[in-house]
Amino acid sequence: MSDVIVEISGLHKAFGELQVLKGIDLRVRRGQVVCVIGPSGSGKSTLLRCVNLLEEPNQGTIVVGGHEITDPDVDIDHARRGIGMVFQSFNLFAHLSVLDNLTIAQRKVLKRDKAESERIARDNLKKVGLSEKANSMPSQLSGGQQQRVAIARALSMNPEVMLFDEPTSALDPELVGDVLSVMRQLAEEGMTMLVVTHEMQFAREVADVVLFMDGGVVVEQGPPSRVIGDPQHERTKTFLSRVL
Ligand code: ADP
Ligand code: MG
Repeated sequence: MSDVIVEISGLHKAFGELQVLKGIDLRVRRGQVVCVIGPSGSGKSTLLRCVNLLEEPNQGTIVVGGHEITDPDVDIDHARRGIGMVFQSFNLFAHLSVLDNLTIAQRKVLKRDKAESERIARDNLKKVGLSEKANSMPSQLSGGQQQRVAIARALSMNPEVMLFDEPTSALDPELVGDVLSVMRQLAEEGMTMLVVTHEMQFAREVADVVLFMDGGVVVEQGPPSRVIGDPQHERTKTFLSRVL
C-alpha cells in the first residue's frame, strides 16, 4: 500500500472570475504533518475544502487514501469517511450533548451500535482531556474545550487524515495552548495531518513540511527549518516578518 495519503495534482479552483487556486501540487505521506501558512485570502481554506469536496475543483486531481475523490464516479460519502475536518468555528451541534456530538455520525454513518459508539466517544474525550464533560452541552464549554470536542468528534470516525483549518484562530489566547497540545499529541501518535495555521511555533516544532501559499500558488515548501527558518522567496520573508 502506498504511503501517500493525500496527493493533489494541478488543482485549480475559481469562484466566478476569481481564480483562487492556480495549480496546487501537494503530497502528504502517512504520519506526516504538513502545515500550510500564508496571508489571508491566499486560498488556504479553499485548498482544504477541496480535499473533502466541500468545494468542487475546476481542474486537477485529488487522491485521498487511494480514492480519487475528483473522479466523477466516486462514492463521495465513502471517500469522505477517511477524512476528519476541524474548522476555525467549532461547528458542534448546539442542541446535542458532548457525548451525542461524538456518537451521532458514528451511529448514522458507520452504523456502530450505541455501546460501541459511546465507548469510542469516551476514549476520544479522554484523549483530549475532557472525560468529565461527556454530559455537558457545547454552550457550557469554553471555546478551547469546544474545539477539543470537535477534534474528538472527528477522531471518533477513525479518519486516515485530519484536516485543520486555523483551529485556534477563534480562541482566546490563553486557550490556544490546550488545543495545540492535543494536536501535538496526535502528531506524536502518528496521525496524518494537514494543518492551516498561523501558529509559527507549532509549525516549526511539529510540521514535517511547511508550505507557504500566496495568491493561489505554493511559493515554497520544505522542512520548517528552511521555509520558516531560512525562507528563500521575498514573499515568504515579507509574510514571516509580519507574523513572527
Ligand atoms: P484563506 O483561507 O487563505 O484566507 P480562502 O481560501 O478563504 O483564503 O479565500 C481565497 C479567496 O477566495 C478569497 O478572495 C475569498 O474571498 C474567495 N472565496 C472563498 N470562498 C468563496 C466563495 N464560496 N465564493 C466566492 N469567493 C470565495
Ligand atoms: Mg482561511
